[in-house]
Amino acid sequence: QTTQPLRRLESKSACPYCGTGCGVIIEHDGQHITGVRGDPDHPANFGQLCSKGNTLHLSSAGEDRARAPLQHRRDSEDWSPLAWPQALSRIARQWAEIIHTQGPQAVALYVSGQLSTEDYYVANKLAKGFIGTNHIDTNSRLCMASAVTGYKSSLGMDSVPCSYEDLDTADCLFIVGANVAYAHPILFRRIEAAKLRRPELRIIVADPRRTPTAAIADVFLPIQPGTDVALFHGMLHILIWEGLVNRAFIEAHTEGWEELKAQVQNYTPQWVAEICAIPVANLRAAALTFGQAPAALSLWCQGLNQSSHGTDKNVALINLHLATGQIGRAGAGPFSLTGQPNAMGGRETGGMPALLPGHREVVNPEHRAEIAALWGVERLHPQPGYTAVPLFQAMERGEIETVWIACTNPVLSMPDQTQVQRALEQCRLVILQDSYLHTETAAYADILLPAASWGEREAVVTNSERRITHLQVAVPAPGDALPDWVIFRDFAFALGAALDTLDHPLPSAKDASWTARARRMFDFTDSASIFLEYRECTRGRDLDITGLDFAVLDARGPQQWPYPQGAQAGQVRLYTDGVFPTPSGRARFRSPEYLGVAEEIDARYPLRLTTGRLRDQWHSMSRTGKVAALFTSDEEAFLEIHPDDARRFGLRADALAKIRSRRGSSILRVRLNADLQSGLVFAPMHFGRRYAPAALCNQLTLAAIDPLSGEPEFKHTAVRVEPMHFP
Ligand code: SF4
Repeated sequence: QTTQPLRRLESKSACPYCGTGCGVIIEHDGQHITGVRGDPDHPANFGQLCSKGNTLHLSSAGEDRARAPLQHRRDSEDWSPLAWPQALSRIARQWAEIIHTQGPQAVALYVSGQLSTEDYYVANKLAKGFIGTNHIDTNSRLCMASAVTGYKSSLGMDSVPCSYEDLDTADCLFIVGANVAYAHPILFRRIEAAKLRRPELRIIVADPRRTPTAAIADVFLPIQPGTDVALFHGMLHILIWEGLVNRAFIEAHTEGWEELKAQVQNYTPQWVAEICAIPVANLRAAALTFGQAPAALSLWCQGLNQSSHGTDKNVALINLHLATGQIGRAGAGPFSLTGQPNAMGGRETGGMPALLPGHREVVNPEHRAEIAALWGVERLHPQPGYTAVPLFQAMERGEIETVWIACTNPVLSMPDQTQVQRALEQCRLVILQDSYLHTETAAYADILLPAASWGEREAVVTNSERRITHLQVAVPAPGDALPDWVIFRDFAFALGAALDTLDHPLPSAKDASWTARARRMFDFTDSASIFLEYRECTRGRDLDITGLDFAVLDARGPQQWPYPQGAQAGQVRLYTDGVFPTPSGRARFRSPEYLGVAEEIDARYPLRLTTGRLRDQWHSMSRTGKVAALFTSDEEAFLEIHPDDARRFGLRADALAKIRSRRGSSILRVRLNADLQSGLVFAPMHFGRRYAPAALCNQLTLAAIDPLSGEPEFKHTAVRVEPMHFP
């Protein structure tokens, strides 16, 4: 037997981790991924990759990949294989029976920002168009939903107005609630390079923790958690007093100014400094730095979004840009960073319970009619479905009888994990579609469906700057694993057949049967056919991509939307003409009051816990957990605490501590950090039961959500700590 030499092949793709969306060239031999390198032609990263991206090839294969559909007895470790037709028809029979007897509102999907745009589109069409339920939400609810509601509320549409190249030309960067150095490392390198090139660039960082991002700050504001609205109103108060607002822009392009001006009059520097626990001088320095900059760009992420007042925080920050005319120009604008590789694709395709494809709204009758016509259905349900936290609560009440979870791990990532576990235990049928076998959620699944992963499917994704990248297939998926959209499509066919056996009433005589309806609606042969249907949903909308197809993306490289028919390039920046997509054409000043956190500290729970990301880990570590090098800086979960607090509560460095909240407890190793403000503790979000059975930080967090965005308050939980002794 002779050994065939490996033939090195290459395919273009994008990194499946953060929303920076770096271009990656996958090196492979046609069967296995053998290496990766940054794509020098990709405008997000110009060839650079961070520690996670650089080790992608080490994370893609492995024994824990799901290779065949499996059925599971929940009270055991027994997993037995099923053929695809068997698995899908078994699920379809149960879903059809639930839909027939309880109605479509008894079924739900919970999907993920890891899905491609095509996957999102087909899942959404399956739920809202075919089944008739709007109960489809995404784990992006946990990271950027407040930015969506913030943009829509202030600017009229969920459209990120900026581009990465604005990082190169901004005179002031206001980074708030974002540890860019860890969560978006390649963007941070770009910021560092800009600072080296132009020492006059001023950087303001506001964060309760002195993160590595704060190391490059000219002005650092270690604010109390949850006080962002007060901070922004306080800065605006100073800008007005100092005459640094742009009256011409306000008069020509905005509405609501007088109301906001009257409100922020009360946010005096002294009062705001007390609320935020920062010196007045630093508050003034931040306001003047922002207000005097020729071009000011703000960057934010979970620190603003993961809050019971996340929308308020977003609109209060956008107010600063509108008041100073810092939008629609090079180097200026409010720039929300996305956490996941295709959180933006989910927003675009309407993969959330209140949205429809093409930035349309479920509650808008015209939008419903437009999408119903495109999908060839009679009507769409007019009520938004449940967002993530209420969805799992409805499951616990028995209102949702079955859930289909795709490419996410809610048992680890949702707040108040115990409630999520109770909900899944209560649920009649839990389907888990994933590339991996051993997630915390798998223990609650009745059926696991194997999904193709990164490098194994063709698709597009959109990054934080609205840039769409075409992902080429490099290698085949292992075993019987299939692309997510194929699984959704084939399930639609199986569900149609099952509904026909029950004589479930058809909405009209347009289709001869549910089987025929499914065949017509999901007549997709490949990823390109889905993309072409989806792009029709964008025609004439703010995110119009009717000028794009896979050939254009391959020939011209990744492109930003909008990219309408006839365009030669995407649009770098939005609102350059000062016209906003609101009924009046004006951006709207919003006037939220500062409200405290959802769960205040008290004598029993005297510390404030905030959670976040590590530089080298990603989500619940299904991928990064396989790469030894990514454990070099942080080997295990930990609790960061100020040495004074550690002394006060009897904790020692490296010893174990028990952390308790009103919902549960967690055991973490103590790490002292004198840079952390006293009274605040920090735990990373990634580690699950596979790494330490009791080190789950979301046992502690609470399910309080923003009333508009539905995003949970991960950034503040009242806790107490005590030394932990082995029994
Ligand atoms: Fe991947 Fe984000 Fe790192 Fe780029 S910055 S390589 S997208 S994890």
